[in-house]
Amino acid sequence: MSYQRPKGTNDILPGESEKWQFVEETARLLFKDYQYSEIRTPMFEHYEVIARSVGDTTDIVSKEMYDFYDKGERHVTLRPEGTAPIVRSYVENKLFGPEHAKPYKVYYTGPMFRYERPQKGRLRQFHQIGVEAFGSENPATDVETMVMAMEFFKQLGIEEIRLVINSLGDKETRQNYRQALIDYLEPHEAELSEDSKRRLHENPLRVLDSKDKRDKQFVADAPSILDYLSESAKKHFEEVVKMLDALNVPYEIDTNMVRGLDYYTHTIFEIMSDAKGMGAQSTICAGGRYNQLVEDLGGPETPGFGFAMGIERILLVLDAEGVVLPEFNQVDAYVVNLGETTNIEALKVVQAIRNAGFSADRDVMNRKAKAQFKTADKENATLVFTLGEDELAAGMINVKAMATREEKRVSLADVYESFATIYDEMTKGE
Ligand code: ATP
Ligand code: MG
Repeated sequence: MSYQRPKGTNDILPGESEKWQFVEETARLLFKDYQYSEIRTPMFEHYEVIARSVGDTTDIVSKEMYDFYDKGERHVTLRPEGTAPIVRSYVENKLFGPEHAKPYKVYYTGPMFRYERPQKGRLRQFHQIGVEAFGSENPATDVETMVMAMEFFKQLGIEEIRLVINSLGDKETRQNYRQALIDYLEPHEAELSEDSKRRLHENPLRVLDSKDKRDKQFVADAPSILDYLSESAKKHFEEVVKMLDALNVPYEIDTNMVRGLDYYTHTIFEIMSDAKGMGAQSTICAGGRYNQLVEDLGGPETPGFGFAMGIERILLVLDAEGVVLPEFNQVDAYVVNLGETTNIEALKVVQAIRNAGFSADRDVMNRKAKAQFKTADKENATLVFTLGEDELAAGMINVKAMATREEKRVSLADVYESFATIYDEMTKGE
């Protein structure tokens, strides 16, 4: 009997996991510069937390939830996204209190779960890196957060990307637009997909987000939400646009973009990749403002802004753009050890090097000299030490700097007492 991983999941193996670490580390460093701190919430939540915030009529809640009743008959679900859990946590832990920084800025990284049809860039367990900023209404927050996302991709070496924005306005905007959209779609009702027929009166904005061909033909000519913005929503959006211009950040406005989650208000955005082969999975980052969500989950009136990026899709884009990532495999010293009696000494040498704060490796497979040198090469060793029985008897060890091919004999005592000095001398000429 042999087993396979569940459909729509991946094993992230060595060779691949280094790329994940690089992506995550780049995000951590950049987000820190923007004063974000990490938050970690549970992988599962009460079903209601997600249903209420993401929205009952969305695909995520109506079709894609990994929800179940636990042994205590609690209705729980694996988290399909990061924002709702964080808002739940923000309210529960009273992070809006006077002792906390304002705006309150957090980032997260981890797995999300959606029961989707698996395809390239679309999985059932996928991973997101995201941020949330609570407490600022200022359009400057919208802009600096979108710019941070763009900057992140630039730092990774991704170039062919576009920022696409739209506004969903406020409550008043949505009420007016909702009616206009229903008026526009009703004459076509019979031609819409089953989902959209149902959603037309429940939540007509969802029709715009449909991926079904039958719906898409009507979306292009749908009324633009920007024509229905309330005075204050219009002002907010104009400020966002003005600030993007002030920073010389290129963007497109897509008046049909509505996003797949109900909690958004005002600015929404996506970052799309134009790299070849991304197909329908070209959105690598998506987010926006959610000024009602904290209140909806029982907290005080608090505006929010955030985004999430799909790590799997980012890696596909890095690949598609042919970005060369930094060399991950590198060891400061490799200790080739030959003959039966050198085993203990080789152990002492690598441990001494590690204790000195350097990375070290050695052969533990009793390989022949040639194979050991090959391993040292594969591991990109900066220095290669060679310990044979003759050297051991003399209390010496050979060392070679791989970059310069310079070679010499040093005493084992020197390695134990001052490895750093040997390292500095041998690598000086590089
Ligand atoms: P899509 O329209 O592609 O289904 P979405 O609107 O459902 O995306 P969000 O919920 O906003 O996406 O998630 C933000 C980002 O997370 C997406 O832009 C994408 O990069 C990534 N993502 C979402 N769902 C998946 C998935 N099933 N597999 C891999 N990545 C995903
Ligand atoms: Mg989706």
